[in-house]
Parts: sequence; C-alpha cells; structure tokens
Amino acid sequence: MRTKKAIYLDHAATTPVDPQVRQIMLPFFSKHYANPSALYKEALIVSGAINDARRKVADVLHTNPDSILFTSGGTESNNLAILGIAHKHINQGKHIIVSAIEHHSVLYPLESLEKDGWSVTKLPVDENGLVNVADVIKAIRAETVLISVMYANNEIGTIEPIAEIGRQLLRYRKEKNTVYPYFHTDAAQAAGYLDLDVEKLHVDLMTVNGGKIYGPKGSGVLFVRRGVAIEPIMTGGTQEKGIRAGTENIPGIVGLGQALKLVQKKQTVENSRLRALSEFFFEKLRKILPDIRLNGLAIGDNRLPNNLNVVFDGVDGEALVIYLDSRGIMCATGSACTAISREPSHVLAAIGKNSAEILCSVRFTLGRETTKAQVITTIKAIAASLKMLKSDLK
Ligand SMILES: *Cc1c(COP(=O)(O)O)cnc(C)c1O
Repeated sequence: MRTKKAIYLDHAATTPVDPQVRQIMLPFFSKHYANPSALYKEALIVSGAINDARRKVADVLHTNPDSILFTSGGTESNNLAILGIAHKHINQGKHIIVSAIEHHSVLYPLESLEKDGWSVTKLPVDENGLVNVADVIKAIRAETVLISVMYANNEIGTIEPIAEIGRQLLRYRKEKNTVYPYFHTDAAQAAGYLDLDVEKLHVDLMTVNGGKIYGPKGSGVLFVRRGVAIEPIMTGGTQEKGIRAGTENIPGIVGLGQALKLVQKKQTVENSRLRALSEFFFEKLRKILPDIRLNGLAIGDNRLPNNLNVVFDGVDGEALVIYLDSRGIMCATGSACTAISREPSHVLAAIGKNSAEILCSVRFTLGRETTKAQVITTIKAIAASLKMLKSDLK
C-alpha cells in the first residue's frame, strides 16, 4: 500500500497475501525451481508440493485429490467449466442455464457458444439478487447440458441457494434417469466465507480463486467431479491429467493450497467479526446520512459478511471513490472489473436499479486487516466528501 495510513476496503477485488502463504511459496521461486515433469529427484520435491496442495484443497472441498485441477484463476476455471462441458457433451444438446448476475468470465464464453448455435437461458433474479430454485428446475430442457449459478455475487454479496438447487437437480436427474444437466458454481467470492463441501452442495464443478482468499493472484482451482468428462481449452502437455496443459505455476499452486486451508480455519471467527463491523459501518453511516440504502439483501445470513454496496443518491459513485482515494481509502464502484469501461453494472440492473442509482453506488468490502478505527475514519471521510460533492452539484 502507498502510505502507512491507507485503508483498503476492496477485498472483493483482491486480498493481500497472507504472510504464512508467502512463506510457504518462497522456496519454489529460486530453490525448488525444477519442472515437476522432469525425471531427476529434485523434480519429485516439486511434484510432491503440488500433491500436498491438491490434498489441502481436496480436504476443504470434501473430495478426492484427482477431482482438483489447478488453473490460472477464476476466469480460466469458469471458461474451462463452461466451454469444457459444452464441447465435450455437445451430442447431448446445446442449451445452458445461468443466472443473469454471473461474472463476465461465465457470461462471455456463453456469448461465443451462442454464435455457434447454442441457446442460453439467463434466469432473472429478485430485487435482492436471489435466484428462484423452482425457476432453475423449470428451465431445464432435454438438451440442457449445464447449469451455472454463482455461490455468492461479487458486487452485492448475495449468497445463492446452491445446496437447494443441487438437491432438486439430483431429484430431477433421478426421475428422468439422466446424468444431465451438470451443475457448476462459481465460488470465487464464496471461498473465504462459506462451506465448500461439494457433497453438501451437490455440485459437479466448482470454481475457486486464490487471489480473493489471501493467496496469490493468478491461481485458481476447478473442481470436476469424478466421472464428469470435460474437454481442455489449453492443449499441449499432459499436466493436470491432460485437461490443463502447460508447466504448472508451482508457487501459485502451493500458495493457493495453504491460503484455502487457512481461510477456512479462520472462517467462523472472522465471519462474525466482519459481520459486526459491517453492521457498525452501515448503522453509523446511516445516522449521518439517513437516505442511504443497501443494494442487495440486508446484512444477515444470506449476504457475504464483508460486503456493503451502498447507494448515495445524487452523488456520482466514481467521484466519491476518487475523493476517498485522495484520503487514502480504497473502495470501488459497482465492480472492479468494469471500473475502466464504466458500463453500468449488469448485476445492479438485474436487481432493478435504474441507471441513476447504479451510478450512485459504491462498494465497500472489508477484510482481515480492517479495524473499527478504520471504519470510523472512513465514515468521517464519506461525510466530508459528500458535503463537497453535493455542493459541486449546485
Ligand atoms: C474475481 C472473480 C472472478 C475472476 O477471477 P480472476 O482471478 O480475476 O480470473 C470470477 N468470478 C467471480 C465471482 C469473481 O469475483
């Protein structure tokens, strides 16, 4: 961070690397640098480290290590899930179901499939961003090969009913005596805060991302259930069972395994701390600014405990973000990924917000280093900046 006093409230964009994670990664840059596919003994140290990381991830997901594929992050895992299933199971049909609020790394591969004659059902969500479970089941056709619904949304923190969708899908498949459609969930935002047991969730594929759980950026996992075949999107070598060719990102893999283990261990304590801090933040802010509202669900069990997405009527969200930055406070408009393009958030549009409300929305996402003192400083800075920004409007 740039200054000692900087306050980072953008943990949904990425998190700092945990010192314990950095520590376990370090030997794999310049000491154990061998290619794990090589034949000499040194390579075994490296391939052993990959196996250890795979075991750590498998333990958290309550699955077997051979169901874990390492990738370059959430984007690749989502692309691989969508395109990998679509290309492998094309003979079954050309229909996919997703929610309207998926991340672009799910939505954009679907656009390319649509050009190849696939049809995509984008399920609407309610005013809080929740997918209706019955709608998901009703949308299934004989030619549906995949359903993809995110575990938790990156902009508004809404937690989707994944286990319930999974349960009803199992019943549907049993009745129809079919293995289709498969079920994928993007758990990039959920991995730090929620239970990732794939048996309880009844998912066939799941995306996890290292850079959002205090692990290294550019590291990710795709869980693929045993017996579910997928087509690679990167071909060449035989790494990752031939599904993901290319020399492995060893420090990234080692770091991700450790990060996931640590974040899940700290989860219960950290979740309640963050939820209390979020409640304090929002209630104090609303005392000063009674007109503010939350986008998405009220703070509670179905919202990520660190996410506040706030509408400041009449205030340009981007101007507020820039003003707060000048005071050493980092936060985001609708979503970090669209910060440059400034196209209005498809998530806020899907929950029924008009373009004025969307442009007046700012996302604060708290994390491990966030303190009550930082929150108080932020509230004061917001109050001061709104006075300035509102007088600018006149
Ligand atoms: C960040 C994010 C991704 C993409 O992850 P990258 O590591 O940037 O590729 C995918 N899905 C969700 C929900 C995310 O928040």
